[in-house]
Amino acid sequence: MNFSTDLRTFLDQIMTMTCRACANPFTTISPAPCPVEDFVAFSQNLQCPRCGSHDILLGQNRTAAEDARYPHGKSANASVSERLFYWAINGDTGSSSRAIAAKLDRASELAHGNGKAHPIDTADLRRCLLLLRRIPEFHRGIDGMSGVSPTWARIVARFDELVALFEEETGIGLERAPTPHTSALLATLIAEPQG
Ligand SMILES: [Zn+2]
Repeated sequence: MNFSTDLRTFLDQIMTMTCRACANPFTTISPAPCPVEDFVAFSQNLQCPRCGSHDILLGQNRTAAEDARYPHGKSANASVSERLFYWAINGDTGSSSRAIAAKLDRASELAHGNGKAHPIDTADLRRCLLLLRRIPEFHRGIDGMSGVSPTWARIVARFDELVALFEEETGIGLERAPTPHTSALLATLIAEPQG
């Protein structure tokens, strides 16, 4: 696919949110890239389109079943590019999952702002796994992230273990369950190695 720069920028600006007051999941368009103060103002003015609350959480923390309600392509055998396009539009995206898309998409059409972001908590990891469920080709190629940063290299080295632990704690459906063991392992991998 050949995305225009405008379309690429637009896809980067789609942000998923959840209203803490009424649990409504919604998407909004971020003004980034923009001056920090503009982004702060944007964040403070965020409002739930259903109930009007300003108590908004970044991301949607979707389960696998919730993500499956969104179309992943026009058909079951959609190409990687097509699934990636659908994911950029209706997926539960975040900076670390976007870094995977930017690095592992061969066409590199989705060049995202911070292409080096790694998951910093299990909410990020969940969004990465939702992308990898949609695009198993990226899961098989996850070793390709090892060149992105030393932190990604440490995460990739124990990726199978990390995924297994997360699926053990949340179930195969990625339910919203506490994930203390996955959090602990991820924190160990993110921490700079001593000496
Ligand atoms: Zn609401």
